[in-house]
Amino acid sequence: MKILVINAGSSSLKYQLFDMDDGSVIAKGLCEKIGIGGAITHKRPGKENYSAEVELKSHDDAIALVLKLLTDAELGVISSVDEIGAVGHRVAHGGEKLRRSTVIGDEELEYLYSIVGINPLHGPPAIKGIEACRKIMKDKLQVGVFDTSFYSDMADSTYIYALPYEYYEKYGIRKYGFHGTSHRFVSAQAAEMIGKPIEELKIVVCHLGNGSSITAVKNGKAIDTSMGFTPQDGLPMGTRSGALDPSLLTYLMKQEDLTPDDIDNIINKKSGLLGVSGVSSDCREVMIAAKDGNDRARLALDMLVGSIKKIVGSYIAEMNGIDALAFTAGIGENDATIRERVCKDMDYLGIEIDTDVNKNAPRGTKIDISKAGAKTKTLVIPTDEEYMIALDTLKLVTK
Ligand code: ADP
Repeated sequence: MKILVINAGSSSLKYQLFDMDDGSVIAKGLCEKIGIGGAITHKRPGKENYSAEVELKSHDDAIALVLKLLTDAELGVISSVDEIGAVGHRVAHGGEKLRRSTVIGDEELEYLYSIVGINPLHGPPAIKGIEACRKIMKDKLQVGVFDTSFYSDMADSTYIYALPYEYYEKYGIRKYGFHGTSHRFVSAQAAEMIGKPIEELKIVVCHLGNGSSITAVKNGKAIDTSMGFTPQDGLPMGTRSGALDPSLLTYLMKQEDLTPDDIDNIINKKSGLLGVSGVSSDCREVMIAAKDGNDRARLALDMLVGSIKKIVGSYIAEMNGIDALAFTAGIGENDATIRERVCKDMDYLGIEIDTDVNKNAPRGTKIDISKAGAKTKTLVIPTDEEYMIALDTLKLVTK
C-alpha cells in the first residue's frame, strides 16, 4: 500500500509518498511560501528534481498541486490518486485526549481546534493540512500522528508543575513533551540493534537538532522528557533558551518594559546557541568560531554539553540504570565532537565510547560507537519521523 505523509507548517508543507510494501520513499517534496507567493520542489529517487514557482494561496492549493505532481504523466510516480491508501499527518500536539495515533474524524478535528490555545504555532497549520486533504481526498482515511502521544504514559508526578493545581484543570498547563515520534522510532531501533525486546530495556534518546530534547524510555514507554508545556523547556537549542529560572522572565519584562510577545520572541528566537555565542544558531558555525578562539562560542557549546549530561544523568537515576544511550537528529547524528564530549567521564554509568569509531561514523547509518565491553551501548541512529507516521497510518488502515 502507498501512504502519503504530510507535515504542514504555517507557510510550508512537506510531503513523502511511501511504498509500504518495502518501506521506500517513491517521491517527496516541499511546498513553500504558501499564502505569500508559492514554490514547490519535487524529488524522486534517481531522477532529476523538479522546482517551480507556482501561486499557492492556501494549503488546499498546495495539496492539490502535490497530487497533480504525484500523478503527472512526466513527473509523477503513480497513475492515479486511487493508488494512495491513506494519508498520515504529523501533528505536534494531541493534547490530553489524543493519546495514540488515530483516524481523524469530525470529533478529533474539533478537539484539535479546542487546543489551539496551548499550541498556537503548530496547531493551526496542522489543522489546515488535514482539512485540505479531507476536502480534496474525500474517500481517504486521514490519520493524525502526534508528537505528544508517546508521553501519554508519564506519571502525574512527572507531568504536573508545582503551580496551583487549578491551572492544570483550567488551562491544561502540564508537561506534554514533544519530538515523541522521533524518540519512539529511535528507541525501537535501539532495541533492535541490541537484539532485546524494548520491554526489557532502559534507553535514553538524545534528539539534538535545531530543536533538541532528551527522553527516558523505560520498558518501551517514555517516562520523562526534557521538553514541557511547550517545546521551549530543557536543553539550550539553536535559538531557544531551554530551561530557565521562571522569575527571571518577569524580572526582565519589568526591567526592559517587555510584552509577553516580546519575551516569547526573545526566549524562542534570540536565545540558545545564537543568543549566547552571538555567532549563529547553527552548531557547525558555533563550533568553527569556538575553534577560532571565540570565547562566547566556546561557552555556548560548554553549556549545551553540560545540559545534555545533566539531563541524561537524571534520567539514569529515574530509571535506576541504562542499557543504551542513543544520539539522533542533525547534531546527534553528525557531530562526533559533541557526542564525545557528552560521553566523556560517564564510565561510572557504563557509558564508554570508541573514539575512533565515533569520529569515523559514516553519515546516515545506524552505528554502535561503544567501546568493546562497555556496560551501556552508545548508539547513533538516524531518525525517520515520516516513516514512523507512515507505519502508524498503515497499521490503522489495515486494522
Ligand atoms: P531541525 O530541528 O530543524 O530538524 P536538524 O535535525 O536538521 O534540525 O539539526 C540542525 C542542527 O544540526 C544544526 O545545528 C546543524 O549545525 C547540525 N548539523 C547538521 N549537519 C551537521 C554536521 N554534518 N555536523 C555537525 N552538525 C551538523
